[in-house]
Amino acid sequence: MIDIHCHILPGIDDGAKSFEDSIAMAKQAAKEGIHTIIATPHLNSKYDNRKPEILDKVEKLNHVLQEHGVGVKILPGQEPRIYGEILEDYQQNQIQTLNGSSYLFIEFPSNHIPRYTERLLYDLQVKGLTPIIVHPERNSELMERPELLYQFVEKGALTQVTASSVAGYFGKKIKEFSNQLIESNLTHFIASDAHNITSRSFKMEEAFELIESKFGMEHVYLFKENAELLTNGENVIKEVPEQIKRKKRFIFF
Ligand code: FE
Repeated sequence: MIDIHCHILPGIDDGAKSFEDSIAMAKQAAKEGIHTIIATPHLNSKYDNRKPEILDKVEKLNHVLQEHGVGVKILPGQEPRIYGEILEDYQQNQIQTLNGSSYLFIEFPSNHIPRYTERLLYDLQVKGLTPIIVHPERNSELMERPELLYQFVEKGALTQVTASSVAGYFGKKIKEFSNQLIESNLTHFIASDAHNITSRSFKMEEAFELIESKFGMEHVYLFKENAELLTNGENVIKEVPEQIKRKKRFIFF
């Protein structure tokens, strides 16, 4: 299987710190059946990772993994935190789409959605890019107002839920919200967002086992297929999104 979100490039963000860390992560990924990883280092106020250096690091890591006989291939990507000038930077060759496709990760701040989001997601699509909102299940505003995410998806954005969220490692609320997103066709990819082999590892097998038991094998196939289609630069499968059904609340007077 393919993991489209991973902080495996060494020494450039809060993921792998060294090539040794990267090798250990790749080995763990291989054990879970992952043969290809899109490396998606952060681009935010803390980590300034841009396309040229990402491409360079990916090439170096592939070389090192080959030398060590690790059968995992690394492809270039990036995880930019949303900002107003992202399109300008894309045109300046600073932004790395997922394996050079038209799919681009967009990360929101963890507790709110900037007002310009809808406009920016639109502008990206006008330029032929397909934004993929990463881990919406971990955003507290989206948890409160899932209709916002529905609107973004309805207007062409895709989303990626993190395997550890599905498996419950971020708590019960995030696990439940992840399941609601899957149930309502509001997510298109499951990826690890792995940072290391201890506190934030892959958990892909675990997540897919849970998805299979709760939603059936066809959901597992869809997510795995979509990761492949994306990697090949092809159109991914989109089911019709639905609004998340709010739990009925009974109010007694
Ligand atoms: Fe990430």
